[in-house]
Amino acid sequence: MGKVCIGLRGWRFDEEAVFDREGAFRPMDEMPEETSTRLSRLTALVNRPCDACWLIHGDEEVERCNPAAVVYGEPMAEVLLCDDHEPDFVYWFREAGGSEYRGTDDVEDAFHEWFADGGRAPGGYAGLSHVDTDPDELPDPEAVLEAAGDARERPADGRIEVEDANSDTGAADPEAEPTEADAEDVEDLDLSREYPR
Ligand SMILES: [Zn+2]
Repeated sequence: MGKVCIGLRGWRFDEEAVFDREGAFRPMDEMPEETSTRLSRLTALVNRPCDACWLIHGDEEVERCNPAAVVYGEPMAEVLLCDDHEPDFVYWFREAGGSEYRGTDDVEDAFHEWFADGGRAPGGYAGLSHVDTDPDELPDPEAVLEAAGDARERPADGRIEVEDANSDTGAADPEAEPTEADAEDVEDLDLSREYPR
């Protein structure tokens, strides 16, 4: 079964759990709960700035922050990073004690604290060798909101919690093809938990 990133690199989904045979998003209530939770969370994350940029520039200069390109961590405790700052997170996770927060809700706060204290990867630290995937070429998670549209009109069904349900879905592309990441990359990483190894 293929794995696919949606919107941002990082979290990976079973293609079959997310897309139907035509490559369109399945209705959210047909997905496993963990999948729909992550996917709906992604719709709220795709347009956010990089956490590290934000720690540097703050809300006052949020326009200087790079948009997030990759997401690590757990839903509601994510670390969002741009390409420039991903090596800092990978270094922290691998070399500076970050891995003890694997799978916990503290990963975000712990990384922020380290970074705000001046924690950085050493110059030239390579980090992960990603396939050069442009997030713009990944399936747009906001397209799932269209598929979830029917479900949202049934408020009695508390299982569907779509964040930012009122956000603009006009750009959603239900035809978006799943983008298969490079198989070599898949083997290099512990992708089951979406953390650097
Ligand atoms: Zn950044």
